[in-house]
Amino acid sequence: MNGEQKRVFSGIQPSGDIHIGNYLGAIKKWVEIATVHDAIYCIVDNHAITVEFDPKSLPIRSFEAARAVMACGINPEACTLFVQSHVPEHTELTWLFNSVTPLGSLFRMIQFKEKTRSALRKALSKKSGGARATILHQIKGVATTVLENAAQIGPDLAALDPTADPNEDLVARLNDGMGNIMQQLQVGLGVSNASAGLFDYPVLQAADILLYKAGLVPVGEDQEQHLELCREIAERFNRRFGNIFPAVARIPGQAPRILGLDGKQKMSKSLGNTIGVLDPPDMIEEKMARAFTDPKRLRKTDPGRPEVCNVFTIHTYFTPKEICAEIETDCRAGKLGCFDCKKIAAKHIDVALKPIRNRAKDLEANPKRVIEALDQGAERCRKIAGQTMTEVREAMGIGPGALKKSSIGG
Ligand code: SF4
Repeated sequence: MNGEQKRVFSGIQPSGDIHIGNYLGAIKKWVEIATVHDAIYCIVDNHAITVEFDPKSLPIRSFEAARAVMACGINPEACTLFVQSHVPEHTELTWLFNSVTPLGSLFRMIQFKEKTRSALRKALSKKSGGARATILHQIKGVATTVLENAAQIGPDLAALDPTADPNEDLVARLNDGMGNIMQQLQVGLGVSNASAGLFDYPVLQAADILLYKAGLVPVGEDQEQHLELCREIAERFNRRFGNIFPAVARIPGQAPRILGLDGKQKMSKSLGNTIGVLDPPDMIEEKMARAFTDPKRLRKTDPGRPEVCNVFTIHTYFTPKEICAEIETDCRAGKLGCFDCKKIAAKHIDVALKPIRNRAKDLEANPKRVIEALDQGAERCRKIAGQTMTEVREAMGIGPGALKKSSIGG
């Protein structure tokens, strides 16, 4: 790394096929970043195991994600690409960071609430009849008990005067009441089947970045809360144990969040609203045919509103500017039907993805190139991670190095 370069860290989940949302929202930027910075890119399989997964297919998914990322233009000669679990220091640093992370900060994480909600939805969709009713009964029971507990602490809450001398009985009763509510909330989370790993996910994310003392991360605005927690963890650690970790900043100017073909939610494999970067032409056309458009446009002759149409947004990323301008005019004038418009979009997406598909085919025929790149990446990362962990362990007074340096060892 030269004086001008900064270290950048970013990760991608091995959760199924890499899609155009990943490509436009992250990987294209990764390619640019690798030309100016010391970029470390990671296939985050430790994150993937926080929800249900199949151990047999996980290594294959990690390989496939690396192959797709390389096919999208990531050159392992110009950056470092590796699989998270191949560098065990990620999980060690997570545990150490857990000791400086306030539980309250983790409870505030919006993404945990969203993921818990989707885990519950999944659990409900798999159950039927009595099993489904049992889950719903449990949720109703938890919510009722929380409300009852909250009502019980109401009088004590009203009686507490923070400016007066504390009434110790009152404070203890309030504390017990809040503890009961917390207990019930934990039962509620248990019903949703969320793992402790899912709860701790942002701490692992902070460890991923800080293990390499990366000062920059190319993440979207939706990750700002996790980034804020990462800064909080670094500050708390530095305050208690010495100045080891840098302040982390987001690289500005990220591509906006790419909506899925449903036009409502972020493009995501789990929502089934994606176009994969390796999808063949007929699949791209078939998926685009199902894409959500301007809901007020019922007939071809109705004037359309490209500004609310996600198909038009997709056009702006793949279709040449002059053709986009024609589409916009013809859509507003009710001259272009959505069916034809989607076909045009599918054609231009295919043109953009074809070189990626070709590179992916080459790598499929030469899997060793991917495996060697990942091995070399992990080797470099283990060296950097090892140096950081030596500093961290000594600063925290753990590990053989700390014992040797202690009054007994010395
Ligand atoms: S013609 Fe194209 S841009 Fe206009 S509403 Fe239909 S799909 Fe959207």
